[in-house]
Amino acid sequence: MGRIAILPTVVIDQIAAGEVVERPASVVKELVENALDAGAHNVTVELEDGGKSLIRVGDDGAGMDRDDAVLAIDRHATSKIRSATELIGVPTYGFRGEALAAIAAVSVFELETAAAEGGTGVRIAVRGGRLESVEDVARTRGTTVVVRRLFAKTPARRKFLRSARSETRAAVEALAVLALARLDVSFVLTSDGRRVTEAPRVASVADRIAALFGRELAEQLVPVEHNDGYATVRGLVQRPAAARRSGRRAYLFVNGRPFRNPFIVRAAEAGYRATIPQGVRPSLFLALHVPGDRVDVNVHPAKLEVRFRDKVFVERVVEEGVRAALRPVAAAAVAGSRHVTPGAPAVREATVRAEAAREHVEGEVQSLLGVAEPLFAPPESRPLLQVFNTYIVFETPEGLAVVDQHSAHERVLYEQAMAQLAAGAAVAQRLLLPLTVDLAPQELEAVDAHRDLFTSLGYEVEPFGGRSVVLHAVPNPHPRFDAGRCFEELVGDLAQGRLGGLSNRLERFAATYGCRAAVKAGQVLDPVEMQELIQRLLACELPPHDVHGRPAMVILSRTEVGRRFGRT
Ligand code: ADP
Ligand code: MG
Repeated sequence: MGRIAILPTVVIDQIAAGEVVERPASVVKELVENALDAGAHNVTVELEDGGKSLIRVGDDGAGMDRDDAVLAIDRHATSKIRSATELIGVPTYGFRGEALAAIAAVSVFELETAAAEGGTGVRIAVRGGRLESVEDVARTRGTTVVVRRLFAKTPARRKFLRSARSETRAAVEALAVLALARLDVSFVLTSDGRRVTEAPRVASVADRIAALFGRELAEQLVPVEHNDGYATVRGLVQRPAAARRSGRRAYLFVNGRPFRNPFIVRAAEAGYRATIPQGVRPSLFLALHVPGDRVDVNVHPAKLEVRFRDKVFVERVVEEGVRAALRPVAAAAVAGSRHVTPGAPAVREATVRAEAAREHVEGEVQSLLGVAEPLFAPPESRPLLQVFNTYIVFETPEGLAVVDQHSAHERVLYEQAMAQLAAGAAVAQRLLLPLTVDLAPQELEAVDAHRDLFTSLGYEVEPFGGRSVVLHAVPNPHPRFDAGRCFEELVGDLAQGRLGGLSNRLERFAATYGCRAAVKAGQVLDPVEMQELIQRLLACELPPHDVHGRPAMVILSRTEVGRRFGRT
């Protein structure tokens, strides 16, 4: 008896605060969202001591009249929805009506607001969740909320706050997310009087990114724009060559609302496949547009997560959008690489043709992307050593390089094939004695259906009655290349549907070709071949990795080698 009791409102609000208000950054997020929902054009945020002693958010939005202002700090007070059905596709950031109540429950809180220009406003003071005073003030239209001594009355929570520096960083980040969503609003954040964020109204996301994170990142981005009938994805993603292992920025928005979702980030990264090594994380700024009834935004107290009705479709549009955006980049990367295919005049002529076609691609994309920086300095004419008939070893300024000859060649051929497929031109060798290849019926079909791909690689294929085809010209990647066998393997892959859907067909085809055509482990290479392979590898967009993401080159630094000899 008497063991169960209804909790007092103040306690309920303090519990709710735990879900919505975790740290100063969450207060900043909620207050700035309210300002945006009120139609503000200018939002200012002031922090003292990382927001631990003071957070002030001011806006020039619609403001509130006296009655609404008093209501606003009640739990479940919201002007944004009236019924559960309105939850579907709700366009405002807020709608749960608990942020102000939750913040007021765990701070010394003050809200000042005026709904009309030049009129009187109202100032409301709340302490520990209890209304202290309501008084008239003179102020311009808009709202200012001041949150002092956050969690002062709940020491258990205050203990979890980090240093002023990291709380500031988190608050700056929370503001940046919203600033990326609303280019039409100007944002300023000061921390202990110092301006940290200054983001004036802009017309493009790139300009906003430049204001928030610096010009350098803004200039490393490529535009994404893709619609597959179900959803649209727009935004900017980082050029593969500029992506690094750490410090990346990934921002997702759906219908203008920021959210987090590791699966969609992964889908975007999948769009980079074969252009970045494993572990490298490109920066992503992606805005999705899906019909409002296909996404539930009320699945997280702070609305940081959303639920899609058809998750797989959303992931697909993202992956394909990113892949399409990077296609010209991949072509440009190869356009920049040196070409070294020795051999007959016919080959050289074809090379010239391919290069002309490539130059065309380069005109199109170079200005947009800038030139990719080389990852490693070429070995000049340092001696190269083949070991175990599998690896090539040489010295670089970074250390002792060990190259896997097959993986390296695969990467070289893949990038070359991608360029050829993009330009529709081939480096081929005409055969004096054409090759005849016998195929199964469904293989013949595959050849018919994908003739353009074979032509781009340099295969000139002609039907030869019955189940045979004749190869008049073939690619010539190296002297030990078995053109007939590679052709059969490619045809086999195609016939068995191993190359997947249309979207990545070119990449898979190029990757399969690279894998089949590359020199194998165990093959002896002469010094000229090694020199050529290394030179071409170092000119690649991603020299250190093969198309499967395995390393093509390992560098043992001088320090590492020294350590083995006890020289520290
Ligand atoms: P929600 O945003 O979920 O509605 P809040 O507790 O954040 O809940 O805010 C409660 C209500 O107070 C809002 O619905 C809005 O009507 C009003 N409000 C809050 N902040 C502002 C502001 N900066 N300008 C105008 N109205 C505001
Ligand atoms: Mg709100």
